[in-house]
Amino acid sequence: MTLQFDYTGSPARILFGAGIRNRLPEMVRDLGCSRVLVLATSHQKDDADTLACALGDLCLGVYANATMHTPVTVTDAAMQVVSEQRVDLLIALGGGSTTGLAKAIAYRTDLPQIILPTTYAGSEVTPILGQTDKGVKNTLKSPRVLPEVVLYDPELSSTLPMEMSITSGINALAHAVEALYAQDNNPISSLMAAEGARSLIWALPRLYKDPQDGAGREKALYGAWLCGTVLGNVGMALHHKLCHTLGGTFDLPHAETHTVVLPHATAYNAPSVPQELAPIAEALGTDKPGLGLFHFARKLGAPTSLRELGMQEESIDRAADIAMANPYWNPRKLEHEKIRALIKQAYFGTPPDQ
Ligand code: NAD
Repeated sequence: MTLQFDYTGSPARILFGAGIRNRLPEMVRDLGCSRVLVLATSHQKDDADTLACALGDLCLGVYANATMHTPVTVTDAAMQVVSEQRVDLLIALGGGSTTGLAKAIAYRTDLPQIILPTTYAGSEVTPILGQTDKGVKNTLKSPRVLPEVVLYDPELSSTLPMEMSITSGINALAHAVEALYAQDNNPISSLMAAEGARSLIWALPRLYKDPQDGAGREKALYGAWLCGTVLGNVGMALHHKLCHTLGGTFDLPHAETHTVVLPHATAYNAPSVPQELAPIAEALGTDKPGLGLFHFARKLGAPTSLRELGMQEESIDRAADIAMANPYWNPRKLEHEKIRALIKQAYFGTPPDQ
């Protein structure tokens, strides 16, 4: 078999390690910047203030109003601060929501960004930006939104509550699963996806036992970086389409929806891509990767049904219709009845059969 592939690496500088956040002032100076705005959610304002203090005169202030799904109204308001204060660098401390705000401002201004991720969502290494305008979420892809520097400090994720750590970690795992069978996968993305999945499958049970477990935090964040990188590198399929549909249409929570749907989407695709999914099955110690993921999530106390996330049973048909409209490429043919059955299983939390 001949080897042929197309691989584009991310230009971002990645620094990883406990305490690496202390090198932030040096990173700011390396970029030649001196008018920093720190972004956060209101929930993480205190941590953002601490970071701003450590930057001293380099920092103009904190904008702690980042919101899930990046509403354009929030970006508009932040833009006013950015232009009034002549900000020359954005620093985001937080999960996908805060990173989303930094990316949205960078998309409009081309300002450089340094991201300090505190969840496992992976947005900081993708060129993807999802924004919500008048209740409708749209996604665009542009190299303009890629940050210049990412500081992965596992100590920053140690405050993430256990339940969120598990669902955020499984959200990252979902990127790896779909990268392994992506239409445009390549040897590098598959290596990263397999290593990312192994890392999370090792780390999450440790965090379930003890959310302060340092080795678990380190390995989970390392896995999240790899999984986020492949999300930005190759195309996603049925699982991500379903989560996009369910999250956007029925306003279901992001990481939890990924957690519930992943076993079912994996089981649907497993017969078509058994070799590609072998690293997942192996890491879970099973030959049924979908079922293995279901038990993995359940053992970690994660939600297993869309019903418990607040979806209504009568929405199953609509969800199937939307999932079948403009479908993503998928390794197994999509059939309406089978997709409806998949969503129904996910709704009730019925274990998949493979
Ligand atoms: P989030 O950023 O919305 O965080 C959820 C809550 O947890 C927030 O209140 C936040 O302040 C808090 N939090 C975060 N880290 C914490 C910590 N260490 N300690 C205590 N609290 C903490 O959640 P998320 O799952 O990281 O991000 C979800 C958003 O990111 C969605 O809008 C999703 O669409 C987007 N996303 C985008 C991409 C992309 O490539 N564009 C990828 C993944 C997710």
